[in-house]
Amino acid sequence: MTPAPLALPETDNAETWVKERTSQTLTHVRELAEQLRSAPPSQALEVLKAWDQLSLELGSLGGLAGLLANVHPVEAVRTACEDTEVEVDRLRTELTQDRALYQVFADLPADQTDALDPLAARLLEKTLQDFTRAGVDRDDATRARLTEINERLTELNLEFSRVTRDDVRITTATPEQLDGMPADWLEAHPVNGQGLVEITTDYPDALPARMFVKDPAIRRAVTIAGLERGWPHNDAVLKEMFALRHELATLVGYEDWPAFDAEVKMIGEGRAIPEFIDKIASAAEGRMKRDLEVLLDRYERDVPGASAVSAADALYYEELVRQEKYGVDSQVVRTYFDFAKVHQGLLDVTGRLFGLRYEPVSDGVTWHEDVTVFDVYPHDGGERLGRIYLDLHPREGKYKHAAQFDLAPGVKGRQLPEGVLVCNFSRGLMEHDHVVTLFHEFGHLIHHVLGGQGEWARFSGVATEWDFVEAPSQMLEEWAWDADVLQTFATNDAGEPIPADLVVRMRAADDFGKGYHARQQMFYAAISYWFHKEQPEDLTKRLQELQAAYSPYPYIDGTHFFANFGHLGGYSSGYYTYMWSLVIAKDLFSAFDRENLFDPEVAGRYRDLVLARGGEKDAADLVADFLGRPYGFDAYAAWLVA
Ligand SMILES: [Zn+2]
Repeated sequence: MTPAPLALPETDNAETWVKERTSQTLTHVRELAEQLRSAPPSQALEVLKAWDQLSLELGSLGGLAGLLANVHPVEAVRTACEDTEVEVDRLRTELTQDRALYQVFADLPADQTDALDPLAARLLEKTLQDFTRAGVDRDDATRARLTEINERLTELNLEFSRVTRDDVRITTATPEQLDGMPADWLEAHPVNGQGLVEITTDYPDALPARMFVKDPAIRRAVTIAGLERGWPHNDAVLKEMFALRHELATLVGYEDWPAFDAEVKMIGEGRAIPEFIDKIASAAEGRMKRDLEVLLDRYERDVPGASAVSAADALYYEELVRQEKYGVDSQVVRTYFDFAKVHQGLLDVTGRLFGLRYEPVSDGVTWHEDVTVFDVYPHDGGERLGRIYLDLHPREGKYKHAAQFDLAPGVKGRQLPEGVLVCNFSRGLMEHDHVVTLFHEFGHLIHHVLGGQGEWARFSGVATEWDFVEAPSQMLEEWAWDADVLQTFATNDAGEPIPADLVVRMRAADDFGKGYHARQQMFYAAISYWFHKEQPEDLTKRLQELQAAYSPYPYIDGTHFFANFGHLGGYSSGYYTYMWSLVIAKDLFSAFDRENLFDPEVAGRYRDLVLARGGEKDAADLVADFLGRPYGFDAYAAWLVA
């Protein structure tokens, strides 16, 4: 028998439910800690098991609260969940700074620890590292200060994401000013009492507006509205966050925050981050210049004498180049991507690839009627592997981006892995970009489920190095670019599958601009690194310098993009990880046969050697197990210039 899925609260009593569950779980975790502290088991393995059980319970509560804080339709529930997140973080800090607990692990006799199996030995090593990184060996005053810092950082993180999420800005336009927008979009956006159409900064509004609206003033207004979310409030929030992270890192013995953060990543050292950023920036330089020239040529036909394309116009002109140079019309493309068919296609494709079957769950309680629920089984029979929730359309108060949330970490025999996709897609026709995003995020979900079958919570699911975590998802994007794959579900109203030659042209059109996209990513990565490294007094000024150094687009006067750059919260100084992971994703993909992306032998090895292992080995070793050699830069470099 596999463990039962979690019960979720009915909307009516969700707030009480969350509060009760929080207090019960925290009490129980404290009891487990006290037992371990005062009467630890005599065997090292049992000590590790007790600690892992405690981590599992704390992690599950944190997962539940982290999810509902971002998706629950009732504000009071979201607030209660944010309080829970603060409490979970507080207790986690308290426990990892607890000398008596640390001593239980540090005092384990060598004859026992030497006899641990490799996985348990790895767990012990990681656990001791968690303690020292938390400052367990520092004096009382320092530990007290670290506690204060951690609490404040949790609050700041929540405030930063709440402000970003709730700051929805609206641009209004007359129907005439919206010339160029798709008919179905216009139909879904009737004029208000003043005869104006409202375009919010939410993706399903802002993205098509920036791509299709012919009026440059509207494109500019929508772009600036998006760049300005979170400003000015988040400026102070971020400065305090950077200062506290720096202080924390130095208190536990590191040079600065990036050094502290990078130690547990594949990259290993903080100083390697700017080197990597510059390596990518330089590899992308030629390709960026070549593609920007094409973009500028097209732009100059409308704006004679222009010297650069603005970020406010980039998507629109990229779209024109795609149409005129590659014959790809996004408005035609989207007629093949009806949400319902894409949803089913995603399940069919990933089921076939990874040997899985998704069984709809109709009696499960969720937080909103939009949410669909599936149980995941091995295709060839066998026990339930996990449960997934798909929450894919926008609504008020909901998380604005696309992400996978761990609802429950999976541990064999103890807890079923459960994960949730939280996205903001249209209910009708989708942009192909969004289809790619859906595949990407589903990659995290499947990693969470398949990696949730091991024996330790510490290594469950996506518990791998954070600069590897994007690679499996980035690789899965390739399936959303393959004609044979797409033709299995992408059909238009008349039932005709998307033409293969259109997909080939879409791919070529997407490849257009990959050099400047890489540079834009390095601009973001540079913000993330240098803001933490230097803690600049004037964030806007530093942003402008970094934009000039790395971005293909000039700074738009008076804007403050960093104020809603959500990844400064979670990724902190490590936004380079997206590109680091992509380098590995391209290498992983090189092992697949492009003529047959469903080859069960390769897909099965990848599933078992990489995804299913979660954090049980260093990511570099998982990749080497699959590739039969260490990963390298060549596949990425070849892709970039091709
Ligand atoms: Zn991702």
